[in-house]
Amino acid sequence: MDIQFVKDLKAKNLKVTPQRVAMLNEIKENGHMDVDEIYLKIKEFYPSISLATIYKNIITLCEANILREVKAPTQKQKYELACDKHIHVVCEKCGKLEDLKIDTKKLEKLTATKSGYKIYDVSAVLIGICPKCSESM
Ligand SMILES: [Zn+2]
Ligand SMILES: [Zn+2]
Repeated sequence: MDIQFVKDLKAKNLKVTPQRVAMLNEIKENGHMDVDEIYLKIKEFYPSISLATIYKNIITLCEANILREVKAPTQKQKYELACDKHIHVVCEKCGKLEDLKIDTKKLEKLTATKSGYKIYDVSAVLIGICPKCSESM
């Protein structure tokens, strides 16, 4: 059991259930997962868990800012751990979704100046063709 997740849950006043910790572990290992992927994985350890329970937990964990939604146009809704800020690249051909750790400060600053908004988070998805797919084209 990952102690950090237990701490995170407690810090947000959430009940620490083995299912929640297992979900966070799986998402940590896989980077990004959709609800069905999470459900299938957790079912291996907790066969009686329902999809509805998984959904409810995801919503709770998103509201607590432990998980974050990743919205990519060509993809099913995915979830990841809400730790560091990063942007995503998606391959239009094979659907691969990757993290890209680049400094988004410039973009945030520019957006704040142009829009007058206070910017507190970045959720950007850039779409293209991955190196593997462009090789076989
Ligand atoms: Zn690809
Ligand atoms: Zn990500």
